[in-house]
Amino acid sequence: MQHDGRGRCRGVNTSGSPCSGRPLPGKSLCAWHDPSMQERIAAGRAAGGKAKSNANRATKQLPKSVMTATEFQGLVCVVATGVVAGKLTPGVGAAVASLARAYKDLAEVGRLEDQVAELEALVRGRSA
Ligand SMILES: [Zn+2]
Repeated sequence: MQHDGRGRCRGVNTSGSPCSGRPLPGKSLCAWHDPSMQERIAAGRAAGGKAKSNANRATKQLPKSVMTATEFQGLVCVVATGVVAGKLTPGVGAAVASLARAYKDLAEVGRLEDQVAELEALVRGRSA
């Protein structure tokens, strides 16, 4: 067997046709069909699948963990109390404080959107 650049990989593609890839130096298989590559591909697929299932789990938690403003205020109070009592780290407190600001900003945007919609309805009523 010679692999001087003219040889072809002895692997078979998923379609069943012979691989047209060039074998790795000193080997009869190309980089794709070489067993070491297959291990890396399998590891990559496993990592991808894991990431996907983590995302799926996060998505599934969404409807259950949506809080009302009052519930969120309760969480902020519990976390603040926990930080003061030394049961939670200041980092957790800072993260929740940051989320609380985002929550407030989103609520404000929602309120402004409602006002704009009301004004648009008023303007439309006048011009009609
Ligand atoms: Zn090949």
